[in-house]
Amino acid sequence: MQKFDVAVVGAGFAGMYALHKLRSLGFSVRVFEVGDGVGGTWYWNRYPGARCDVNSLEYSYQFSEELQQEWNWSERYASQPEILDYANHVANRFDLCRDIQFNTRVRSLHFDTKCDTWHLKTEQGDDFQTQFCIMATGCLSKHNIPKFEGLDDFTGTVLHTGTWPQVQPDFDGQRVGIIGTGSSAIQLIPLIAEWAASLTVFQRTASFSIPAHNAPMDKEHERQIKADYANFRAANSQRYAALNNHPSAISALELTATERDTVYQTRWEDGGLTFLASFKDLGNNLDANRTAAEFVHSKIREIVKDPAVAELLSPQTVLGCKRLCVDTDYYQTFNRRNVTLVDISKAAIEKITANGVLSNGIEYEFDALILATGFDAMTGALLDIDIRGKNGLSLQEKWQDGPKNYLGLTVNGFPNLFTITGPGSPSVLANMMVAIEQHVDWIADCLCYLRSNSLQCVEASASAEANWIELVNAIANQTLFPTGCNSWYTGANIPGKPRIFMPYLGYPSYVEKCEDVAANNYRGFELG
Ligand code: NAP
Repeated sequence: MQKFDVAVVGAGFAGMYALHKLRSLGFSVRVFEVGDGVGGTWYWNRYPGARCDVNSLEYSYQFSEELQQEWNWSERYASQPEILDYANHVANRFDLCRDIQFNTRVRSLHFDTKCDTWHLKTEQGDDFQTQFCIMATGCLSKHNIPKFEGLDDFTGTVLHTGTWPQVQPDFDGQRVGIIGTGSSAIQLIPLIAEWAASLTVFQRTASFSIPAHNAPMDKEHERQIKADYANFRAANSQRYAALNNHPSAISALELTATERDTVYQTRWEDGGLTFLASFKDLGNNLDANRTAAEFVHSKIREIVKDPAVAELLSPQTVLGCKRLCVDTDYYQTFNRRNVTLVDISKAAIEKITANGVLSNGIEYEFDALILATGFDAMTGALLDIDIRGKNGLSLQEKWQDGPKNYLGLTVNGFPNLFTITGPGSPSVLANMMVAIEQHVDWIADCLCYLRSNSLQCVEASASAEANWIELVNAIANQTLFPTGCNSWYTGANIPGKPRIFMPYLGYPSYVEKCEDVAANNYRGFELG
């Protein structure tokens, strides 16, 4: 049986950096990856229009000054193909692939208390032994196919945005249906509308979307950032979501309606997620939030010509409670004659037929049906693997009422196992690349600490874990996030999933806590 110091599950940006970092510290590492290439989420989400909603100059690694200087992004927001090129460039530059086992799904991870090691089994039946496990399985990697009656009967093509084929399907002359109106659908819809003969969009809940105003990279801006990249990164890491979003220090309610709309208009024209930082209280004051929602509603009414369609597209939820979407011509697309919006908020899809979708007694016929129905987020990919800690306790049992862990990194009862950007950490509510590097660096420091102190084992204590969960919830409960909508942040998009707000809110305070734990000899951990 092959033995490693560290097994890493997943070769997305988290797994790639974990491999590079730990290998350079002298650990033997093997990465296991289901796909036949690196890139994780950017490997799988190849649908037309897939693009990052964080500026390219921020959505990239910072661990290597040479890397961040030599790579040039072509656009303000990078497209999926360009991000995948970047991932491949990093893999080649740091010679990563020799330690990545592709086309391999990890089936089980069982902890052996006798020798403090993990036994890893792949779906092909191969066995490995490893002292540490790093779960770099991603937050949005288990795609969600709702249990639509009759889905298998559909005779046309069925696609999911999260597992898009490598060979692009041809929608020329086709009648296409899309179920879902989240971030993925919002990027895809304008392009399919231009391509296909007709497009029918099934919307259960309308989403707020802000124009991206994507553009070719401003070379002068890029030069300025690169001239002082380290300080740019350091300043961003002091912000709530580790993004360069120019947060406002004033309340939306301090201004008159006209003054407020001027602020919103400036942010709207600037584009993207920074709209959420227009005022300091959009995330925790419902009245403030309503002013932002009403501004977006007014924009939708301006853009969409049919008032009934504009009304349907106007979300009635708290703005930002579901992930804010970023688009190019999303609302404009509903002015096209070949696009139809079907409201399924009151009458769910009845079934899928051989020819299409039956909803509210009407059968819509399609050649292709696209499921843009999202992911079993944050816990789905972890719980897909049979992970058993001490005394055979499974992670499924441990997390049956929702994820419980310490620092969003480690789980009591599961020694030497780490989750990168796990629930209970800022993850999806921070710049992911920044959150990934912070986690990998913290884990690497922890493993070096164990090695230099001749320790074999690190495990979160039960009390540290309980206190952490209480803290994550207490912080979330000061905001509109947990109750303002049915979001995947709370597991509400998956029937039967426990409803718990999963991310830790506030990147800087989170980092402070992680550093404090490490500086105090890994307080809250049992070391052995
Ligand atoms: P999502 O935001 O969860 O959206 C899924 C959509 O499918 C929602 O409109 C949902 O309706 C609908 N849906 C789910 N089950 C359904 C059912 N049974 N019947 C009818 N409709 C159903 O998923 P996503 O669009 O893939 O995005 C997920 C996350 O990935 C985003 O929030 C974002 O963090 C990330 N992402 C980022 C980018 C980017 O960087 N630009 C792009 C794509 C995705 P309800 O809202 O009613 O549940």
